Amino acid sequence: MKIAVFGTGYVGLVTAVGLAEFGHQVLGADKDGDKIRMIASGKVPIYEPGLEELLVKNLKSGRLEFSADLGRVARESDVIFVCVGTPPHDDGSADMSQIEEVSRLIAANLNGYKVVVEKSTVPVRTSSWIKRTIALYKKTDLTCDVASNPEFLREGSAVSDFLHPDRIIIGVESERARDMLVGIYRRHEDRILITNIDTAELIKHASNSFLALKISYINMIADLCEKTEADVELVARGMGLDPRIGGLFLKAGLGYGGSCFPKDVKALTKIGEDLGVSMGLLREGERINAERVRLFIHKVKQALWILKDKNIGILGLSFKPETDDIREAPSLKVIRHLLAEGARLRLYDPQAMTPMKQVYPEDGERIVYCDSALEAARGVNALLLVTEWEEFKRLDLEKVKEVMANPILIDGRNVFDPAAVRAMGFEYSSIGRK
Ligand code: NAD
Repeated sequence: MKIAVFGTGYVGLVTAVGLAEFGHQVLGADKDGDKIRMIASGKVPIYEPGLEELLVKNLKSGRLEFSADLGRVARESDVIFVCVGTPPHDDGSADMSQIEEVSRLIAANLNGYKVVVEKSTVPVRTSSWIKRTIALYKKTDLTCDVASNPEFLREGSAVSDFLHPDRIIIGVESERARDMLVGIYRRHEDRILITNIDTAELIKHASNSFLALKISYINMIADLCEKTEADVELVARGMGLDPRIGGLFLKAGLGYGGSCFPKDVKALTKIGEDLGVSMGLLREGERINAERVRLFIHKVKQALWILKDKNIGILGLSFKPETDDIREAPSLKVIRHLLAEGARLRLYDPQAMTPMKQVYPEDGERIVYCDSALEAARGVNALLLVTEWEEFKRLDLEKVKEVMANPILIDGRNVFDPAAVRAMGFEYSSIGRK
């Protein structure tokens, strides 16, 4: 059985490499020819720990190949994993044009039975649109099946998440498709849940929206903590000890970002409302999340009063640690607000400075990119922690304080111990802790 993977972004590249590592013959395809050439030469265009080593290993084994000849890849495969983007439209609904494009391409190249697998995150009922599109554009009487196999990997630990998944959801409507997909994941057979396609599609959106709500919930509690003597870190720990709640995703801070949670919450809200279901709970979660940066900027102003011509250091640009992805990162909004008020910024991130320079180019005046956290702190009136990379937790704060103009530390991720940093002489504020 030959497997194709369409789209070699964060999900597609990990999927292609991971399926080859499972022992399958895999053909990865992308319409971006430069990306394909880079990947085929053994270089990974994103920062994802462990991915490049596994790519090189599987290219050498001969099980993995990449091509920009999309038609050939479609014709040569039995199962096609669709991993293209589904970004949001302005009204929150998912832009399905990349999925439609791939469906038409598969239709035009249909030369035998195939299973087309949605791995991208898609709205419930998408499979009917894919089937209809293939039926409309195919040039033969041949048939294919559509299936759903949503992806749950997390950027930063994507390789291990793919190789050791908690669950594998397979949404199918034929035995033939089910047998092929179960065969692909046979080494994790005990983790497979078989459902119909609508259910599988909805499991992904429902999971991401639930996790986003959990983050907004603890941020709402953090707001309450700030008005009382309660400490949100201890509230979260106390809540998380209850196994019915669990401690993960109960982290107060600058809120969720990234290419998934914001868009998936919006898409699920839109689908629900279009189908006449009240989605007010998700709308409120989104509102709470949208407030985070405004409240954080308020803390900066409480420390510095006027921001015009103040020097401010920012630690962390990626939407979360261990990735270079800045899509919907809180840092983007923080930077936009500070620049709008006339501040001068010194920015540092271990991996995400290259993509950030595309959005905010260095100008040597208002925006300066630094080689280290210490450099970002040099001469600044305040230092803001925006993404909780491990290296920031190990910072030598004595040295940091020495190079700063004013020892003001505003921690958007509750990385530091308030008593310890205050004892060092910092003026310190964080989220939901007095
Ligand atoms: P991405 O933007 O990194 O990658 C998409 C890739 O698809 C790009 O390389 C693009 O060139 C390619 N592409 C677009 N149109 C194409 C076409 N017609 N033919 C071939 N290639 C095409 O996106 P991503 O982050 O990998 O996300 C892909 C999907 O997976 C989305 O639906 C996303 O919601 C979902 N998802 C993402 C994550 C994540 O952490 N990034 C996790 C789970 C699910």
